[in-house]
Amino acid sequence: MKKKIAVIGSGFAGISAATVLAEKGQEVHIFEKNEQIGGRARQFSAEGFLFDMGPSWYWMPDVFERYFKRFGHDPRDFYDLKLLDPGFTMVFEGNEIMDVPANFDELCSLFESIEKGAADKLVKFMEEAKYKYDVGINDLVYKPGLSLTEFIDFKLFKDVFRLQVFSSFSDHVKKFFKHPKLVALMEFPVLFLGAMPEKTPALYSLMNYAGLKMGTYYPMGGFHKVIQGMKTVAENHGVHFHNNEPVTELQIKNNLVHHVSANGNSMDVDAVIGAADYHHIESKLLKKEYRNYDEKYWSKKTFAPSSLLFYLGINKKVPGLKHHTLFFDNNLKQHSQDIYVDPKWPEKPLFYVCCPSKTDPEVAPIGQENVFILMPIAPGLEDNEATREKYYDILMKRLEDYVGEDIRNSVIYKKSYCVTDFVEDYNAYKGNAYGLANTLRQTAILKPRLKSKKVNNLYFAGQLTVPGPGVPPSIISGQVAANELLKKL
Ligand SMILES: Cc1cc2nc3c(=O)[nH]c(=O)nc-3n(C[C@H](O)[C@H](O)[C@H](O)COP(=O)(O)OP(=O)(O)OC[C@H]3O[C@@H](n4cnc5c(N)ncnc54)[C@H](O)[C@@H]3O)c2cc1C
Repeated sequence: MKKKIAVIGSGFAGISAATVLAEKGQEVHIFEKNEQIGGRARQFSAEGFLFDMGPSWYWMPDVFERYFKRFGHDPRDFYDLKLLDPGFTMVFEGNEIMDVPANFDELCSLFESIEKGAADKLVKFMEEAKYKYDVGINDLVYKPGLSLTEFIDFKLFKDVFRLQVFSSFSDHVKKFFKHPKLVALMEFPVLFLGAMPEKTPALYSLMNYAGLKMGTYYPMGGFHKVIQGMKTVAENHGVHFHNNEPVTELQIKNNLVHHVSANGNSMDVDAVIGAADYHHIESKLLKKEYRNYDEKYWSKKTFAPSSLLFYLGINKKVPGLKHHTLFFDNNLKQHSQDIYVDPKWPEKPLFYVCCPSKTDPEVAPIGQENVFILMPIAPGLEDNEATREKYYDILMKRLEDYVGEDIRNSVIYKKSYCVTDFVEDYNAYKGNAYGLANTLRQTAILKPRLKSKKVNNLYFAGQLTVPGPGVPPSIISGQVAANELLKKL
């Protein structure tokens, strides 16, 4: 019999969970607090510019393909993907540049030119990383992580050393490469999306495989196109979207959620998937006795960074910029410490600049540039206008020095976004941007559980549960949570 299921949140995880459930014949309602769907991947336009608010690196195209194929589609039905070449540019001290080519042979030559013997080592590194990617992304991440027994028949048990779940990412990289530029290149995905490379399992060299071997893509029209494509598929399967309707309470009877209260629309339900921030659902929508975790638990978790962001419209072209530029000109270790070890506003920040108008004419008026700046910071820092402006000056000075021309006087649109906005817009714990970090103690069954221990028809999805932060894992998370709920139904 058809069941009525509420999904909280319309990010990648929520839409993905809802669509899987609806495809199997359930009546599914997504409640979204904001006017626009997409969560951290919303988009806005201003003064002729179209800004993606969050994700900009389209990695692991196979995950998106697998998702759309499940419903008889291909990503190309909804957006054109462009392989970026160079995939990205890194800037080191003294404005030394490293363009990271899309072609792997060219990448090997680049490595060899920086460190003798590094080309062969890169080939070897990538062979191992490919194995981790194949097992990790095709098998491991689709496990619900509810019990160790899930892994018994699984290669992980036999191959725990080969997957390097228990050794450090940092040590792993340093076994292959010595030159600081190469080490920085290999460590950046972990730093931006996770935690200190020392505390991250070497398993995550699969991210290097994804970024350097499979390539960096861009969906024309912006990342929000992915959300729009997913929405079309969801609606084709009958998913109902309720925007501007924050869920305010989950009412429990006999250890089951039986009623969802939302502003404007409340309903009796047979099950719930909580795909908003996990901590918010537990601490604000559930009474204490029904929570999996208390505040102490959350305060001890290592969160991925929050961010200070600037969305800028520039009324001229900036020839010195490429699509993705990573500024690694300051000490990587010091900035990581300021995020993860001793949380404070960084003295010498590293940052990232995205200029999608280099690839996509739709996102800026002709002859102008769309620029997005991201500086990772510790979650929970005090955030005010004066601090944002202080860093705007630091980052813009640095950027102008790099491109060799004035930009500030050409900024015709500017919006900043930081910790308090993440809290306000997404109910994000401490204003986190990318959820929970992928540390050794926060992998698979050690992450917050995908299923409630106390409420029998409540499941969780999204970047705070398995498999982790980032767009591809969030899409997978929704599917895994929906599959588990379907088993129960
Ligand atoms: C600035 C930034 C840059 C990023 N860059 C990348 C990148 O380049 N590549 C990449 O792969 N990943 C990137 N990420 C990470 C990626 O965007 C996220 O991991 C992913 O979008 C999370 O999806 P989600 O569905 O788990 O959560 P969300 O997108 O946060 O969705 C949760 C939804 O729940 C809603 N909600 C909250 N409370 C309630 C309530 N009470 N009732 C109803 N709805 C509620 C929220 O409004 C939100 O829409 C980035 C993230 C940020 C913030």
